[in-house]
Amino acid sequence: MSPTNLVGLLPAELEDLTVELGASRYRGRQIATWMYRKSILEIERMTDLPKDFRAALAERARIALPELEQVIPSQDGSRKLVFRLEDGARVSAVLMPDDDRMTLCLSTQVGCGFECAFCLTGTMGLERNLTTAEIVGQLLAANALLGESRVTHMVFMGMGEPLANYHALVSAVRVFVDARLGLGYSPRRITVSTVGLVSQIERLGREDLKVNIAISLHAASDEVRSRLMPINRSWDLGALMAAVRRYPLAPRQRVFFEYVMLDGVNDGDEEARKLVRLLRDVRAKVNLIPFNDWPGTRFRRPPLSRILAFQSILLGSGITTTVRWSKGEDIGAACGQLREAVPA
Ligand code: SAH
Repeated sequence: MSPTNLVGLLPAELEDLTVELGASRYRGRQIATWMYRKSILEIERMTDLPKDFRAALAERARIALPELEQVIPSQDGSRKLVFRLEDGARVSAVLMPDDDRMTLCLSTQVGCGFECAFCLTGTMGLERNLTTAEIVGQLLAANALLGESRVTHMVFMGMGEPLANYHALVSAVRVFVDARLGLGYSPRRITVSTVGLVSQIERLGREDLKVNIAISLHAASDEVRSRLMPINRSWDLGALMAAVRRYPLAPRQRVFFEYVMLDGVNDGDEEARKLVRLLRDVRAKVNLIPFNDWPGTRFRRPPLSRILAFQSILLGSGITTTVRWSKGEDIGAACGQLREAVPA
């Protein structure tokens, strides 16, 4: 049997493993504490485990992070982390400092199968899902890189569709939020972004994880959205908004809506007014993302005046709306620009 990677295993799974090795569940909790609470990623350094047990564990298991192949700094302070996975595939995560926050944008798949027309990752197609180990590994590697400080917030907005890799996503989130034996992140500091997989949004709501949800909306009419996002032909805006309204929210929690601004496509005053109607009665926060260019795209970013006019219609109707200038545009790390990066 090839050695099990301990990274990403839930504390309960680590307990099961130590029982399989003939030890107590307590040993599993010790391993979780070392890995997730103390960031010790070598079995030999888990000094409160008996020597014999460490030897038996090392036969059966290993602790492996995805190889951090490159760290590419951007002029805006963000950094793109390029990981080489064990099968040679590459994914990226992006570290984005902001005031007292350090946000990590995580990938969940190699490529993506949803083919949104404006997204570079979408041109790759789906290669495979990431494992829980590969998702949790991105965070552990980022924290190791940061040294003294650590990631404070996480957004699942990197490569791939998180809700299409549901099981691995949910396990990773459980490791992140477990306050006793996991990494102890507040679920309110974690945001899962989706193209709008209605059945999975409902399922996520039932998990009671309390994470934030972000909907990649990008249009306020089915006609426009179906042209931009093929998923809209399976679940249209009516179905999507019904699922959003049912998503359980804590008292001051809101649903985020991402809206990429595309010149002459979805940026008109009329579209803004439709958006206002669509979001009526939803506790919403809208992020307008000016389109990030990539070679070969037919889309363009609207002029700033248009973006601000669109924003002011939403603001005028009482909808919290920010313009989110993507980080890392100069290093190919901005929204929708992540693509398997083969280093030179
Ligand atoms: N698949 C998930 C997670 C990716 S999040 C989702 O779609 O929500 C990445 C965000 O960047 C999405 O809102 C996506 O639609 C947006 N995006 C994709 N390409 C973009 C581009 N070229 N410019 C700006 N935003 C883009």
